[in-house]
Amino acid sequence: MQRTLSLFLILLFFISSTIISQTKTRDEIDTKYKWKIEDLYSSVAGWQKDKELIEARIPEITEFQGRLGESSKNLLTTLESIYSIHKSHYKLSSYSSRLKDQDLGNSVNESLAQQASSLGTKLSEAASFFNPEILAISNSTMDKFYKEEAALLEYKIILDNVQRLRKHTLSKNEENILASFGLIANNQYDVYGIFTNSEMPREEVTLSTGEKVKLTSSGFSRNRTAENRDDRKLVFEKFFNNYGKFEKTIGANLTGHVKKDYVFAKNKNYETALEAALDRYNIPTSVYENLIEQINNSLPTLHRFLTLKKEMLGYDTLYYYDLYTSMVEKVDMNFTIEDGQEIILKSLKPLGSEYTKVVKKAFDERWIDYYPTDGKRSGAYSTGSEYDYHPYILMNWTDDYNSVSTLTHELGHTMHSYLSNKNQPFQTSQYPIFVAEIASTLNENLLNDYMVENAKSDKEKLFILGSYLDMLRGTLFRQVSFAEFEWEIHKKIEADEPLNGEIMSNIYYDIVKRYYGDDKGITVVPEYIKYEWAYIPHFYYNYYVYQYATSIIYATAFYEKIKADGDNAVQEYFKILKGGGSNYPIELIKKAGVDPMSAEPFELAMKRMNDVMDKIEDILKK
Ligand SMILES: [Zn+2]
Repeated sequence: MQRTLSLFLILLFFISSTIISQTKTRDEIDTKYKWKIEDLYSSVAGWQKDKELIEARIPEITEFQGRLGESSKNLLTTLESIYSIHKSHYKLSSYSSRLKDQDLGNSVNESLAQQASSLGTKLSEAASFFNPEILAISNSTMDKFYKEEAALLEYKIILDNVQRLRKHTLSKNEENILASFGLIANNQYDVYGIFTNSEMPREEVTLSTGEKVKLTSSGFSRNRTAENRDDRKLVFEKFFNNYGKFEKTIGANLTGHVKKDYVFAKNKNYETALEAALDRYNIPTSVYENLIEQINNSLPTLHRFLTLKKEMLGYDTLYYYDLYTSMVEKVDMNFTIEDGQEIILKSLKPLGSEYTKVVKKAFDERWIDYYPTDGKRSGAYSTGSEYDYHPYILMNWTDDYNSVSTLTHELGHTMHSYLSNKNQPFQTSQYPIFVAEIASTLNENLLNDYMVENAKSDKEKLFILGSYLDMLRGTLFRQVSFAEFEWEIHKKIEADEPLNGEIMSNIYYDIVKRYYGDDKGITVVPEYIKYEWAYIPHFYYNYYVYQYATSIIYATAFYEKIKADGDNAVQEYFKILKGGGSNYPIELIKKAGVDPMSAEPFELAMKRMNDVMDKIEDILKK
C-alpha cells in the first residue's frame, strides 16, 4: 500500500509535465544522457542468476515459522534473513524496472519485470506469518529479547511499529471477516471513476474562437486557463452546473465511501476514520487539526495574493474562474541539459559541498536518463531502493524551465535516498511517505530563489515569482480546503448526522467562500462552485491530500531556517535525510528542528509567501 501511494504522489506531481513528443530512438541518444544500469548487473544473465539465488533462499524466511517467540535467536535470524533477501530483491527489481521503463513496448523487458514482481509476491507470502507472530510476543518477552541480543535493537522501530497496532488488531477470525470486505471496499471509487470518466453526459460549449469543446475533465482543465475571460466564465459555469445535475447520485456514492471508512475504523477500534488513516504512519490527529487551524489563520496571506493577482490582471473584481489564469505573462526560457546541471549545482550551494558533490556524481556517473525516446515511460521519478548502489532518475527533458525544476525536484528524492542509504542499515533505510516530498520541495525553493536572483529581466523575475505563488495557491491552500471538506463530511457520519449531496454542496461552498474571501469582496465565488467537490477524485483516497500541504509547509520552514542560520540549520535538516526510516515521520521532523504541532512552520511558510509578494510589488513599483 505504501509503495502504491508513494508512486501515486509522484505521478500526481508530474502529470502536468508528461506531454512530450517522443521522436528519437534510444540508440540515437548519446550514452552520457542515458542511465548506467550496468552498475547493477553487467548483463541480463547476471540478473537471471541472482533471481535464482534469491528464489533458493525463500525457505530461510520460514525456517522459524511458528517459533519466533521462542527465542531471541529465532527472531533475529528471521529478521536478518527477511531483510537481506529483500535487499537483493530490491536490486533485482530496480534493474528490470529500469529496463522496462526505458522501452515499455519491449516484451522481453516486460517479462523480466513481471518475473521480479511475482518473486516479490512470493517473498511477501513467505513472510506473512511474521506480523501476527510478533503481535503474539508480549512486551516483557520482547524486552528480555533485546537484552539477550543487542543486534535486535537495530530492528526495534520495525518491531515497535507492528506491536503498537496490537490494540487495533483483532482475533484471526475477525480479521478474516474484515479482510473479506476488502472485495467491496473499492466500489464507490470504481463507480465514481466509471461514471465521471465515461457514462456521465458532458456539456459542449462554443468558445469565442468558434472552437467547440466537450467539457470532460480534460476538456475542462485545458480550457479553464482560457485567455478570453468570457470563455473561462462559460467553461466554469457549464462544467460545474453539469455536476450539479448529479449532485444526489455522486453525493450518495461519496457518502457510501465515507461510511465505509468509518465502519472499517470502528471495527479496528478507532474513534474516527481520520485516526485510522493517520495511524498507518503513526501520525497523531493533532497534526491534521493543526494544519487546518493554522491555514485558516493564514488566510489573510492568501487574500493578499488574490488581491495582488486581481490588480496584476487589471480587474475590478476577481472571480473564482480567474484563479487558473497566470498572473504574469509567460516567459519562454530555454535550457540545455548542461545549462540545467550548472544552474542546479549553483542553486544547491547553500546545502554545502557534502550535498553538491553527490549531485555532481549523479550527473557525471550517469544516474540519470534524460531524454524522451520512443516507448519510454513519460513523466519523471527517482528511485532509491538500490541500497548498496545509487538511486536512478528518469526524466523527459524538453529544454524548458519545467525540465530544470523537475530535475532538481527528483534530485531531492535522490539525495534523500542516497544519504539515508549511506547512514542507515538496510532495514531502516526506506523513508516514510510523509517526509518523502520535503527534500524535493526544498530543492525547488532553492532553484526558485537562484533563478530570481539571476534573472535576465524583470519580466523573467515576475514570471518565476508569480508561478511560485500560483503553485502555493493550488498545492497548499486548495489542498487544505479539500482536507477540511473531507474531515467535515466524515464528522457528519461519525456524529450520526445525515449526509447527502446537497449537504456536501453546502459544506463545500461555505469552505470555499471562506478560503477565497467571498464575504470580504476578495474573490466572488459563483454559486455553481458549490458542486466542485463532485469533481475531485481525491475524496475517495481516504485522507491523502493533506500531505501535499504538509510537505510544502515543512520544506519551506526548513528552507527559511537554512537561509537564516546557514550551516547549522543545514546539519539539522540533514537529520531527516540521513534518518531514513529510523523513526516515525513526526519524530524525524521534530528532531530536525521543526515541530509539526506548532505554529512555527506555518509562520515561516507564510513569511516566505509574503516576501515573494513584497518582491513582486517592488518590481511593479519601478
Ligand atoms: Zn516528488
